[in-house]
This record gives sequence, structure tokens and C-alpha cells, in this order.
Amino acid sequence: MYPQAFTYHRAGSLKEAVTLLSQLGESAKLLAGGQSLIPLMKLRFANPKHLVDLNFVHGISYIQQKDGALHFGALTRHAEIEKSPTTAKIPILRDCAAGIADVQVRNRGTIGGSLAEADPSGDWATVLLTLSCEVRCAGPTGERSLELSEFLKDAYTTALSHGELVSEIVVKIPRDNSGGAYLAFKRTAPVYPTASAAVQLSLEGDRCTEIAIALGCVGLMPIRVPQAEAALRGQQLTPKLIESAADAARTAADPQSDMRGSADYKRQLVRALVKRATEAALQRARGQQVEVSHIYA
Ligand SMILES: Cc1cc2nc3c(=O)[nH]c(=O)nc-3n(C[C@H](O)[C@H](O)[C@H](O)COP(=O)(O)OP(=O)(O)OC[C@H]3O[C@@H](n4cnc5c(N)ncnc54)[C@H](O)[C@@H]3O)c2cc1C
Repeated sequence: MYPQAFTYHRAGSLKEAVTLLSQLGESAKLLAGGQSLIPLMKLRFANPKHLVDLNFVHGISYIQQKDGALHFGALTRHAEIEKSPTTAKIPILRDCAAGIADVQVRNRGTIGGSLAEADPSGDWATVLLTLSCEVRCAGPTGERSLELSEFLKDAYTTALSHGELVSEIVVKIPRDNSGGAYLAFKRTAPVYPTASAAVQLSLEGDRCTEIAIALGCVGLMPIRVPQAEAALRGQQLTPKLIESAADAARTAADPQSDMRGSADYKRQLVRALVKRATEAALQRARGQQVEVSHIYA
């Protein structure tokens, strides 16, 4: 199906994009990679009267290391993050970028668009919730910075007000002896995961001192699992303890039965994914080179 007619606007700068959004009102939408918006427009689930294209704005696609953090311009494509040697400093980010859909989607889709879309099945929010992540926004009244957990409000809902956009995502580099891993179970590459798990942890000697576990696609938003984290924090991570954390994650998951599987099936997946992701994160925190890749049905 063709989208409904709209007027196309090409922004030359972020400031111009903000001004256009404010002038054009609620019926205007930003266009980044178009990998969520265009399919929705073709299905006529989204019918903006104006599209403000960010793709010709200079200087909003970059990956920079600065002040102990990685800075991602909002228009940075998944594929750029996947291939970046800078991103390799936080391996869980590469796990995420490399597993999103297929090459075509990764070449167009952006990290800023993904967070702004707040799709409960999207990968970025789940992974970034396990790290210290700030979302920088620009709007008619200036700039502001939000923790990711404040930025995400609900399924498809963020703290952005109309006229505001995501300009940059800042991720603090975890300290030495840290490791993380992200694993999803997918039916095929170009579909969203059935369930996913992100684990980021830090060690002091043999003990796990910091840990964050987040689940994707098993709730209306990505879910942090404090009960599973508590089972591991301060402990030496034995197989038995990892199993109990995985059990706690299964209990915390709140999936819906749908075409991807029954709620019970997804809970079982969560258990297995948390276990494997924790094992991989632990190996990475110990300095081992571990490749992880999503599991395909
Ligand atoms: C076949 C297919 C499979 C996919 N599989 C996956 C998957 O497995 N995992 C996954 O995570 N994603 C998946 N995606 C989605 C993909 O990752 C998109 O890139 C992402 O969701 C949206 O990014 P985008 O740059 O394409 O945004 P767009 O589609 O251009 O925009 C999405 C929304 O965000 C708004 N927006 C865009 N940029 C900004 C900004 N800077 N500030 C404020 N608002 C903004 C737009 O107005 C729009 O409402 C898939 C997409 C397709 C087509």
C-alpha cells in the first residue's frame, strides 16, 4: 500500500529540524532511517502530513570516545556501530548492533530512531538499560539530558515533547574487569526477537560487585530484573547461582502469547537466555574473548 500524501521537508541542521517540528505542529514527524516509520506509513498506521528528514543534517552521525564515555550521534546507523572499533570497548553494544534484523535494515536504521520509537521489541533500549546511558535531547527551549530510564515512558512512548528530538546518546565506558553480553532468540534474521536478555557485570577479584540484567520483548517495555541481579551481586558466580538468577528472571518476565510463541514458552526462553548471557558476560569480565550471536529457531 502507498502512504497517504505528505509534504517532505529537508532539515539542514538540528536547529532547523526543531523549528520545522514546532511550526508544522503535531502532524509532522522526523524521518531518520525510516525502518520503523516508512513501514507504518505504508500500512497507514502512521499518517503524518509532514516529514522532516534528518538525513542531510551534517554532524549527527558519529561515534566518539570522550570523558570516559562513548558518544553516538542520533543518526548513527546500526551497521556503523556494529563495525566500529571504538564500540568494541563495550562488547554488548556490538552484540546488539550486529543482531538487529538484516544488513539492509542495519545500513539504514539509527540508534536515535530506535530509542525514539520505543518499540517494546526493539533491541537498543534493552541493552542500554544495563549500562549508564544518557539521552540528549534538543527542543525549542534548548537542550536537556535524561537517563534512559527517565526517557522511556511506556510502549511507543518517550519523554520527548513535540518539537523535541534526540540529538545524542552517551554511554559511560564500564570500568576494568567488566563484561556484558546480549542474546536474543529469533525466528529469522529480519524479524524482531521472540525474547532477549542483556547482562552487564563487573568483578572485583572473583566477586561480582555490579550487575544489571534486562529482558526484551517480554513486557510492554524492557524489564530490569532486580531479583535476578540481587541473586548475583556480591557473590562468586557459580553455576548454581546463575541458575537461580535465571529462575528469578523467568518469574519476572511478563510476556504475551502471540504468533512468536506462548507466554510460557517465552518465559522458558528468558531463563535460558539469561543463563547464557550471564556466562558470556562473566567470561568477558575475566578478559576472555567471547563471540556471542543470537539464536535462530
Ligand atoms: C524488517 C525489519 C526488521 C527489524 N528488526 C529489528 C530488530 O530485530 N531489532 C530492532 O531493534 N529493530 C528492528 N527493526 C527496526 C529498526 O531497528 C529501526 O531502525 C528502528 O526501530 C528505528 O530507527 P530508524 O532510524 O529507522 O527510525 P525511523 O523509522 O526513521 O523513525 C522511527 C520513529 O522515531 C522518530 N525519530 C527518528 N529519529 C528521531 C530522533 N533523532 N529524535 C526524535 N525522534 C526521532 C520518527 O519520527 C519515528 O516516529 C526492524 C525494521 C525492519 C523494517
